[in-house]
Amino acid sequence: MIDVINLRKSFGDMEVLKGINITINKGDIVAVIGPSGSGKSTFLRCLNCMEDPSGGSIVFKGVDIADMSVDINVHRRHMGMVFQHFNLFNNKTVLKNIMLAPVYLRCKDLKKAKRKNSMIRFGNLFRGGSKRELLPITQTSEQIKREVKEQAMALLKRIGLEDKADVYPSTLSGGQKQRIAIVRSLAMDPDVILFDEPTSALDPEMVGEVLELMKQLARDGMTMVVVTHEMGFAREVANRVVFMDEGQIKEEGGPKEFFGNPKEPRLKDFLSKIL
Ligand code: ATP
Ligand code: MG
Repeated sequence: MIDVINLRKSFGDMEVLKGINITINKGDIVAVIGPSGSGKSTFLRCLNCMEDPSGGSIVFKGVDIADMSVDINVHRRHMGMVFQHFNLFNNKTVLKNIMLAPVYLRCKDLKKAKRKNSMIRFGNLFRGGSKRELLPITQTSEQIKREVKEQAMALLKRIGLEDKADVYPSTLSGGQKQRIAIVRSLAMDPDVILFDEPTSALDPEMVGEVLELMKQLARDGMTMVVVTHEMGFAREVANRVVFMDEGQIKEEGGPKEFFGNPKEPRLKDFLSKIL
């Protein structure tokens, strides 16, 4: 689904990603671990082009999204992102947080289709002869909003937080906020979700509920790339574990081999400190 080829990223003179190569397949759960400053977050942010790569390719469903001439917004909507600090909109209710992006994008698509139709109509009027078909428009913006709201409520119900639909994020616990952030990304029906240390900012007693939701997504077949310090999650849930160090992938493997028989001295050293 995503082919990362020789991905490079520099900030000024500092080269942070020094040629990353990895293929992420549909249904993969890739855990990314590594020391602080090794480029894990930068890698994740480059994957959906929140940071512009300095070199290399990111081929997502056949399109190189690192190519600056590509309209990244068209592709980014298929990639969810969950952050350490939730990044919810604090001035919007929980329900609005979840509805915002899908309503905005679907209404934008609707407007675009309507605009195209009026151009086609105009063209047909003058061309005569071979008439172009109008695009099918089956929904109004009111219907879209209703439908997205239903989906959002179903997602809240799934995580047992439907009673929080109308409250503001500031009234929620960290674990609740992160679970809302996760279902907010699900509301876009993404092909892949990128997680950057989703449990690092949580009180220990709230880590479990977030990991449990992530496990559910994994069981449902969601493709996920997860930067994490949760070695239990990497071991039990991921099918691939990647060790990043100094801007490169130094080792990669299935969790059994990766943790049971690490090869790189830097990885051995890293694991000995955290396990
Ligand atoms: P951590 O485990 O602490 O989150 P990380 O592996 O996610 O670390 P990154 O955040 O990707 O590391 O940072 C890698 C390097 O790039 C660091 O030296 C950081 O200071 C630098 N860096 C990251 N973002 C920027 C930026 N926007 N401008 C300049 N330097 C940056
Ligand atoms: Mg980071």
